[in-house]
Amino acid sequence: TLSTLVFANSFSFRSIPTRTRSKPIDPAGWPDRFPAKEHCSKCGLCETSFVSNVTDACAFLGPGMARIDEMESIVHGRRRNLDDMVWSKKMSRSSSAGAEEEARFGVVQQPIRLAKGNDMDNAQWTGVVTSIALAMLESEQVDAVICIANTDRDNGDTSWASSEPIVARTAEEVLRGRGVKPALAPSLRVLDEIQDDPSIRRLLFCGVGCAVQAFRAIQSDLTNLEQVYVLGTNCADNSPTVEAAQNFIQEGVKMDASTVKGYEFMQDFKVHVKTADSYVTKPYFTLPGTIADSSIAMSCRACFDYTNALADVVVGYMGAPLEANARMDGSFQTLTVRNERGAQMVQTAVDSSRLILGEVATGKGSHEQLAVATITSDALVASMVNQTVPKVGMPGWMGELMAFGMRQFGPKGLNFARYSIDYHVLRNYLHILDTWGQERADSSIPQYSRYIVDYYKEIDTEFAMLISA
Ligand code: SF4
Ligand code: SF4
Repeated sequence: TLSTLVFANSFSFRSIPTRTRSKPIDPAGWPDRFPAKEHCSKCGLCETSFVSNVTDACAFLGPGMARIDEMESIVHGRRRNLDDMVWSKKMSRSSSAGAEEEARFGVVQQPIRLAKGNDMDNAQWTGVVTSIALAMLESEQVDAVICIANTDRDNGDTSWASSEPIVARTAEEVLRGRGVKPALAPSLRVLDEIQDDPSIRRLLFCGVGCAVQAFRAIQSDLTNLEQVYVLGTNCADNSPTVEAAQNFIQEGVKMDASTVKGYEFMQDFKVHVKTADSYVTKPYFTLPGTIADSSIAMSCRACFDYTNALADVVVGYMGAPLEANARMDGSFQTLTVRNERGAQMVQTAVDSSRLILGEVATGKGSHEQLAVATITSDALVASMVNQTVPKVGMPGWMGELMAFGMRQFGPKGLNFARYSIDYHVLRNYLHILDTWGQERADSSIPQYSRYIVDYYKEIDTEFAMLISA
């Protein structure tokens, strides 16, 4: 499939012979009947006839995410520069230096910059993803958009409705994609619908990294398509199910889940929770350590694609500034444009006044120390090495004090994103080492993540000891 993707990027897909259709796997059998078992991220591929491609496409089988190294050249025309990884001691205290860093953020065509959606109500943040998708559809550059929609939104429920993929052909349908996606959702489940509809020639696919990786692997098999755009989101630690996300709110944040419309772990070291009539923030440190295990899907513990390396353009928030007391639905997000298609999508959204661009993203503060401190106090890591996981978090006042101190002295902007990427890479490497063993771990980690692991192994004896534990 990789070689045919090269072909598909240059020529019409129409001359590719029809492929044999395979029997989809019943979603009721998740995860045991899915090839990646407990590490299946429910990307949706196996729920379609494209399940026949699973061995080559799945981000959690065989070389898995290590395929990204090679796929970057196919999708973007070149691999990321692995020699520009930024470490705090090598950058000035407050600067935009590093907004083009590829080793950590992936292929970038232009510096990472800030953006907000323009006048988009009821979005999770300010609606950057929805704004770009709408602009592409309204300008008739695509015939349809694959996105995740809350299926009960029409009934007035915008919070805990089950999230389902849809093929949106109208602005109203795209708008159903606004709001929170609280759990893993099978974006690729609609592939057969795309393949069977000859009226869809130009497609915009929106998805998280693991789904984009599988989509890129089968893209050339979607033989009706003449043009494909991929709009990605940054993603880490998704919840396995809606029920697990609800349990996190009930037992972790101690709020009534039925009132909650969205939540996120934000850059001020707090979980932000939106309800219909309130906005609550809780310091990370007040959460019980034991809540992590049920709240974070196994796939996300084996994921090395936080930055969505194979999308044309990526929307995130970790590298954006967050002022004190700011809300997620009023704050900037980041845009990482990876290639010409990504630039075209952003320009379209700006031209239609749906998107407002801000400054180039900046960062300051050391990120390495905090990454190491987080790893050594992490609940999932503690359970890997048979340490006791705390059943209760810090008292509220102490958590607030900690969050205040971290905001004052910890990494900010792009350096917060660097901290978060490094922490997740280190934690997830320990997870795959623990679960899959050394050989498989080393063959399924992408080169850029390997660089991060090697660096911390060298600078931190505690992390080096965890690896050899
Ligand atoms: Fe199939 Fe996707 Fe699960 Fe892999 S992650 S087993 S491709 S549904
Ligand atoms: Fe997929 Fe990784 Fe996001 Fe989990 S964290 S949903 S594995 S991209």
